[in-house]
Amino acid sequence: MDFAEAQKEALGCRRCGLCHSRSQVVFGEGPLNAELFVVGEAPGFNEDREGRTFQGASGMLLDRLLGSIGLGRDRAYLTTLVKCRPPGTPPRGPKPAEINSCREYLMSQLAAVDPKVVLALGDLASRLLTGRKEAVSRIRGRAVPLDGRFVFPTLSLPRALYTPADRALLLSDFGRLPELLSAERPATYGTLNIPGGETGAREPAQPELF
Ligand code: SF4
Repeated sequence: MDFAEAQKEALGCRRCGLCHSRSQVVFGEGPLNAELFVVGEAPGFNEDREGRTFQGASGMLLDRLLGSIGLGRDRAYLTTLVKCRPPGTPPRGPKPAEINSCREYLMSQLAAVDPKVVLALGDLASRLLTGRKEAVSRIRGRAVPLDGRFVFPTLSLPRALYTPADRALLLSDFGRLPELLSAERPATYGTLNIPGGETGAREPAQPELF
């Protein structure tokens, strides 16, 4: 499925139960030639209302973090593992089956953008995109070369919003992005790992760390 097909289908998608908790699909946004691809977990209340990724306090934090390395939203493609808001206040995390249902859209976005750096925000995105089972707090800030890209796990924005120490770690991790963005693409060691079964249960094909 190419990007245009994925976007068109996702906007009316009913592949998983999250179609019942959303008010609109939040597909993602940004230039298709971006070298930085940012993946959060799921749309929240503000994203669901606005129809755009990373809104509200989390969005403002992301803007500040990007600004700290001289980037704006116009230089990154922003999306989430699932494109619809999970139920609950605050929303629960997406389930493995929901992430798998949405996987094809994420893969179409990745293929179209072909970024050099994939920034995985939080435990779920980190585990799914790196294939490593450790909590993101243990592997954050170290790039994993996969599929000709650097997958770079770091803490989630909501977590950093409420914990100053985590915010400092997130800022430090963002400080490594310019180095990765200016580096040569890594040799392809394995395929970007987005499993369809249990999350966080497997190791990458090549667990070398950058
Ligand atoms: S989360 Fe993804 S798979 Fe599920 S209904 Fe929304 S767009 Fe479709």
